[in-house]
Amino acid sequence: MLKSSRRIFLQSASLSLAWCKTSPLLRNSTLPDSFDNPLLEEFSYGDVFLESDLHEHQLKNTQSVLMNLNEDSMLKPLREMAGMPAPGEDLSGWYLYDPEYDMHKGDTGFAPACTFGQWVSALARAYAIKPDPAVREKVFRLNRLYAQTISGDFYEKSRFPAYCYDKFVCGLIDSHKYAGDPDAFAILEHTTDTALPHLPETAIEHGVSWRPGTDETYTWDESYTISENLFLAFQRGAGLRYKQLAIQYLDDTYYGPLSEGRNNLAGRHAYSHVNSLSSAMQAYLTLGSQKHLRAAKNGFDMLLAQSYATGGWGPDETLRAPDSDDLFASLSNTHSSFETPCGSYAHFKLTRYLLRVTRDSRYGDSMERVMYNTILGAKPLQPDGRTFYYSDYNFDGKRFYKDAHWPCCSGTMPQIAADYRISAFFRDPSNVYVNLYIPSTLQWIQDDVRFALKQTTAYPLDSVVRFEIHAVKSKQFTLNFRIPAWTEAPALLVNGKRTSAFVLPGTFASIKREWKNGDRIELELPMKTRLEPIDKRHTDTAALLHGPLVLFGVEAAGRTFPGSQLLAAEQTSPNSWQAGPPPNPLVLRPFFALDDYSYSTYFKVS
Ligand SMILES: [Zn+2]
Repeated sequence: MLKSSRRIFLQSASLSLAWCKTSPLLRNSTLPDSFDNPLLEEFSYGDVFLESDLHEHQLKNTQSVLMNLNEDSMLKPLREMAGMPAPGEDLSGWYLYDPEYDMHKGDTGFAPACTFGQWVSALARAYAIKPDPAVREKVFRLNRLYAQTISGDFYEKSRFPAYCYDKFVCGLIDSHKYAGDPDAFAILEHTTDTALPHLPETAIEHGVSWRPGTDETYTWDESYTISENLFLAFQRGAGLRYKQLAIQYLDDTYYGPLSEGRNNLAGRHAYSHVNSLSSAMQAYLTLGSQKHLRAAKNGFDMLLAQSYATGGWGPDETLRAPDSDDLFASLSNTHSSFETPCGSYAHFKLTRYLLRVTRDSRYGDSMERVMYNTILGAKPLQPDGRTFYYSDYNFDGKRFYKDAHWPCCSGTMPQIAADYRISAFFRDPSNVYVNLYIPSTLQWIQDDVRFALKQTTAYPLDSVVRFEIHAVKSKQFTLNFRIPAWTEAPALLVNGKRTSAFVLPGTFASIKREWKNGDRIELELPMKTRLEPIDKRHTDTAALLHGPLVLFGVEAAGRTFPGSQLLAAEQTSPNSWQAGPPPNPLVLRPFFALDDYSYSTYFKVS
C-alpha cells in the first residue's frame, strides 16, 4: 500500500514476472483430499488472559491510541468525500482526504479513511477481551456516524474502493460478533449496496487499470483479497449474498497455478497476496474447495522458502522468485525489508487457518518466529499516527517510524495486538492445543466442568514452561503441546514424572489422561544457538538464532565473525547475549530489546 515503495515494487515486477513464466513446477501437491480430524476451533478472545508485558503493552498502547482518537477526525474524510459538513481536525498522513492529491508530491492524502474499518474491528475485538462499556459505546457511535456518510462518491474518489470496502466489512462483522452491535448487519447491507456499483465485477490483479481516466495510483487496489471477510460475513449470518460475492471475487488466476504447485508469487505485492491466501482458506472452510486449500498450503511453502530467518518476507513489499539472490541483495540495497504489522497480521491469519485444518506444528513454529522477531519489536503506535512499518534487515539496520502518519500498518497493528490470544490455544471436543508459550491463563468448559490452565514462563528467554490445572472436578481429555522443530532432547513431565508420550521436535506431544485440580506439567524445550544462512549460495552470510529468537548484533555493521565465536554466544542477562572476547565483544539482543541501537540481522561469517 505504500506509494514510494510501490515504485520500487513496480520496477522489480516486470523482471520477476518474466522469470515466473518459465518457472518449473515446484512439486506436485501430496495433500490428502480430507483430513481425519475435525477443524480445530479458536477460543474466544475472552477465554485467554495474557500476562506477558510484551504482548499486553502492545494491546494497551494501540487501544489507548484508538480510544483517544477524536471521532470527528475519524469521520472527516468520509464526510468530505460524501460532500457533507466535516467539522474537526484532520488526522493527516495517509488518512487525509485531499481532492488535489498528487502521488509525485508525497504520501499525505494517499489512502483517506482506509483504516477506519480496521480501527472499529480492533475496538470490537478489545471489547471481547475485556468488556469495557466505553469501548462498546465508541464502536456503536462510530458505526452510526459512519452509516450517515455511506455514499457512492466515496468509492469513486477513493484509489482503494475494494480495499476500503473490505475493511468496512471487517469492522462491521466484528462489531456484530464481538460487540453485539444490533445494527451492524443493516449498515453492512447499506455499505454493500452502495459499494458494489463502484467495484470491479471480479478480482483485478495489482497494477491493472480498470477505471478509465484514472492515473496509476488507481490500479493499486486489492480486490483480490476481499473474499475472506465476505465468507466470514456469510458465516456470521449476514446473508447468502456475501457467500456469492466471496466466490465472485476469488482470484483464480492466482490460486489456480498455486493449487497445482506452480510458483507464481514472484513479482507480486507481498502483504496483499499473502493476505489473499486467507481468502483461499475461507473458500476451503466455507465451500470445501480442495483446490483452494492446496493453493494456500503450497503458497505458504513457497513463502517459507523466501523468508528471512526472522520469519519476515517481501523486501520492498515484493515476493521473490525461488532460488533468486534477491533476499541476499536486500541486505545491502534496502532498509524496507518486511512490512511488519500488515505482514504479521496476514501471516498470523494464514498460519492459524492452516494449523486448525492440518494440526501441523510447523505452522505454529512459523507464527512464533514472526511474533518474536518482527511484530513484538515494532515501535509503539503514536497518538499522532506515527507507525512502525518496515523491519530493516540491512547490514546496518535501525528500527524506525514511517515518514507518513496513519499508514495501512496503523490499521493492522491494533488488530494483531488483539489477536495474540486467539493464536495461542485451540480446541476440539476432546483436545486442547497449546500453540504459543506465553505467560497466560486459559479458561474453558470441558464436558460441563470449568477448567483453567495457567502457564508460567519466561520463554523464549528461558527454556522451561510450567502449567498448572485448576478444576472443581476431574475430566478426561488430551492436552497437546507444540514441540518446536529447532529443539533437541525436549522433555515433558506430569506431576514431576516424565511422560511416556512421544515428545518429538516438529510435532505436537499429546497427553491423554484424567486431568484434575492441581496437576502440574513441566515442558523443557532446550535451545541451542545455531546459524541460518540467508540462502544456499551465500552460506557465509548467516543469522544467529537461539530457539525461536534471532539474535541481532548491536552496532555490528562492517564486522566479520568466526562462526564458532557466534555459536558460542552466551546469555549475559535475560535480554542480552555476548559473543567474542573483550575488549570488543559482540552484544546480541532480540528484536524487541534493541531500543534505538543500530543492528545487523545477518553477519558475514568467516
Ligand atoms: Zn501496512
